[in-house]
Amino acid sequence: MQTKVVKFGGSSLADAAQFRKAAAIIKAEPERRYVVASAPGKRFSDDIKVTDMLYDCFDLASKKENIDEAFAKIEARYNGIIADLGLDFSLDKEFRKIRMAIEHHAGQDYVASRGEYLNSMILAKFLGFTFVDAESGIFFHSNGTFDDKQTYKALSALLEDVEYAVIPGFYGSMPNGTIKTFSRGGSDVTGAIVARAVHASIYENWTDVSGMLMADPRLVENPKVIEEITYRELRELAYMGATVMHEEAIFPVREACIPINIRNTNSPADPGTMIVPKSDRPVPTVITGVAGRKGFSSITIEKDRMNTEVGFGRKVLGVLEDFGVSFEHTPTGIDTMSVVVSTSSITDCKEALIGRIFRDANADSVTIDDNMALIAIVGRGMVSNKGTAGRAFTAIANRNINIRMIDQGSGENNIIVGVDEDDYTAALQAIYGAFVGEA
Ligand code: ADP
Ligand code: ASP
Ligand code: MG
Repeated sequence: MQTKVVKFGGSSLADAAQFRKAAAIIKAEPERRYVVASAPGKRFSDDIKVTDMLYDCFDLASKKENIDEAFAKIEARYNGIIADLGLDFSLDKEFRKIRMAIEHHAGQDYVASRGEYLNSMILAKFLGFTFVDAESGIFFHSNGTFDDKQTYKALSALLEDVEYAVIPGFYGSMPNGTIKTFSRGGSDVTGAIVARAVHASIYENWTDVSGMLMADPRLVENPKVIEEITYRELRELAYMGATVMHEEAIFPVREACIPINIRNTNSPADPGTMIVPKSDRPVPTVITGVAGRKGFSSITIEKDRMNTEVGFGRKVLGVLEDFGVSFEHTPTGIDTMSVVVSTSSITDCKEALIGRIFRDANADSVTIDDNMALIAIVGRGMVSNKGTAGRAFTAIANRNINIRMIDQGSGENNIIVGVDEDDYTAALQAIYGAFVGEA
């Protein structure tokens, strides 16, 4: 029998009705043996995710404030699910332990991880599956990076004798035994790691949309579903803001050539999106998708005859390295160089950074402009279609939007456009409209 790993996101496990949908999907195929679960997500748009409630509890405790009310709300979320599912099961002992740990200043990652821990216990009980704690199967190095060797060895051994299991997403253990989480949305990464560890035939990622869409559905009305996308394309879109899938979730499965299928828990008959190593399928729209993010700044350095000065770029980037700032893009002219960085990475060191670049690179001027949004136009079809960039730029210009920066990836399968944050939505809609038709 083949083995499928299925991951259910927060909205897919937000309440008892969603648990029932997830269980029906899991039970529909005996190959769906390993289930990775997120913490309960939003049930409606103003609802609060349990993970966010846990971060709030941690903040209250670290300010030495009372957590009674905040923690009671978390308990109520889980107790509601247990009661509505009609389970003869109590998490009271766990609640007491976690609460005590928060009051005794347990680490932030431990506190946040309890969202998936508790939800996975309920799901395991509801399905009649074994609960396997990620704490004993997913490991980090002491510098916080993922320890693939130890993890795959331990996790494969742990799951070898377990026919059906639920594993909490989002976290693992540090060498000293404390809990560490991946970054937000990290249950996607856990799912990919489990898929790799058990040599799954497929990694199904069940969420609240019918696959990866050509644009963020919160910005473009009814965007088309992408039927097939390569790991590389997905990573570029995910990194730039298509948050349906954590961009780091690609690596474990890509190395083992395990396809990912993004599916909709609320519409299980939809085929969703297949993520594959390589695709020969023609892209009817030229571009595969468009995604973007706000919150970037451009540092512009001017110096006459910069182009002839050997080592200029290294000096500028060396300053960024000293400040621990990573950069996204570096468009250059003959007398100017721009470096695009995330605004949050320089807020605490702006003045010092300007001073150092000025001095070390002997620049004529150094300026920083904030409020930039970056939009990535991504697609393997762009290489063989002339005029893609022109089409996108014309669509943006027709809306009277100024382009602040352009960068084309060297693989010719992505173009990055920088615009003012105020123009972000309109620019993204213009690009989508130019390739797919006005929504
Ligand atoms: P889960 O809780 O299942 O992990 P997420 O909230 O992390 O789900 O991701 C799904 C959401 O991602 C969608 O509801 C949608 O609002 C958002 N999203 C942003 N960009 C895209 C895109 N290009 N395609 C699909 N969903 C997107
Ligand atoms: N619950 C975590 C978060 O909200 C992880 C996840 O949902 O993937 O970020
Ligand atoms: Mg997610």
